[in-house]
Amino acid sequence: RPASAAADTATSRPNNLEAYWMPFTDNRYFKQHPRMVARGEGMSYFTPEGREVIDGTAGLWCCNAGHGRREITEAIQRQAAVLDYAPNFQLGHPIAFEAAARIAEITPEGLDRVFFTNSGSESGDTALKIALAYHRARGEAQRTRLVGRERGYHGVGFGGMSVGGIGGNRKQFGALLPYTDHLPSTHLPGQHAFTRGQPEHGAHLADVLENLVALHGADTIAAVMVEPVAGSTGVLVPPVGYLQRLRELCTKHGILLIFDEVITGFGRLGTNFGAERLGVIPDIMTMAKGLTNAAVPMGAVAASNDVYDTVVNSAPNGIELFHGYTYSGHPLAAAAALATLDLHRAEDLPGRARAIEPAWQEAAHSLRDAPNVTDIRDFGLIAAVELAARPGKPGERGQNVFRRCFDNGVLVRVTGDIIALSPPLIIEKAHVDRIFGTLTEAIRAEA
Ligand code: PLP
Repeated sequence: RPASAAADTATSRPNNLEAYWMPFTDNRYFKQHPRMVARGEGMSYFTPEGREVIDGTAGLWCCNAGHGRREITEAIQRQAAVLDYAPNFQLGHPIAFEAAARIAEITPEGLDRVFFTNSGSESGDTALKIALAYHRARGEAQRTRLVGRERGYHGVGFGGMSVGGIGGNRKQFGALLPYTDHLPSTHLPGQHAFTRGQPEHGAHLADVLENLVALHGADTIAAVMVEPVAGSTGVLVPPVGYLQRLRELCTKHGILLIFDEVITGFGRLGTNFGAERLGVIPDIMTMAKGLTNAAVPMGAVAASNDVYDTVVNSAPNGIELFHGYTYSGHPLAAAAALATLDLHRAEDLPGRARAIEPAWQEAAHSLRDAPNVTDIRDFGLIAAVELAARPGKPGERGQNVFRRCFDNGVLVRVTGDIIALSPPLIIEKAHVDRIFGTLTEAIRAEA
């Protein structure tokens, strides 16, 4: 390819759309009505024709520092010129250790052991495997049951999918992992509708774990895995006291608590991690997305020192955890992570999110009287606007609102008839107004 090829991708459209089988996409519709962005800068994407689209979703909840950050790009370039790749099986390279240590500086106290993956899905499966290995190391190999939650999303690996609670993501694939069970979703539509921030009522939903313990026996349960705030299924904010209750029950029964912080990590809730904002520390935490500002794929799992020590010290000698990826700790990803963590600190991204949260919340809830809006939820720099489904056509109204917003210069995310928003944390008030103004117009147009 000519040297100008990269520049061309910012202004040209591909000739062949057929070869690429797109993920989580209506391929047939898309290929007839393609929607492309080709360049990103700050709060915005640009189409190949140069039309600006404000990014109301930080890509997929991941570009927290905004797009085209020179500091990250240059760090990747420098690293590629020094060491493109080296394995991390029985061999190390300095930058991966540096990245792990920097992550451990901002994880909650005691969660200081970092395992690298390449995505949120891999982080989910890794966390579940670490939990199983931990119990086996303690002499409780019978603890194999994994508990998730309805409407939970932990990616698309077999572990995350099985513990996850999205019917649509599961039913195409037949029998999944055995020995899983699910807590009820934290969402009580009748009682929670239009709550600002955390709902007051619903902590008791965590007590269902006691029922699962009574049913299966605590000594068969390895871990409970939940998102502090469920994102992909439409922003379900945990009721006050819910996660505290879950923590207490897990501790009482010797069950590991895993937080999936893939979207709640790195400032989205106004703190480094959701654990901090919500005041509950898990035993294991997964992360990805904002870790590198999504510039290079990377995920990680932070485990408590106890979990790490138990697994590592139980092995007589040799490899302690039979798990890892060719690209664990990849040098380019580690360089991107370090540059992102520098920006995270220098620009105080959690502080920026905290500062704009009241304006964000106000703007989101101003849609309350728009037609067909049945609920609005928000927490940190996340919001969801739930719409009534068209009779007999679930998802159609949501899709149309999404497409109208894009055509009018704002990227939102749609799940069924729920519009979700999660902007880069560098967002300013003018962007907030533009995003919610465009969304309101689109909802009115679809009335
Ligand atoms: N966990 C959560 C909470 C997520 O929101 C996501 C992605 O949206 C994942 C896991 C999966 O991450 P990935 O798509 O990087 O595999």
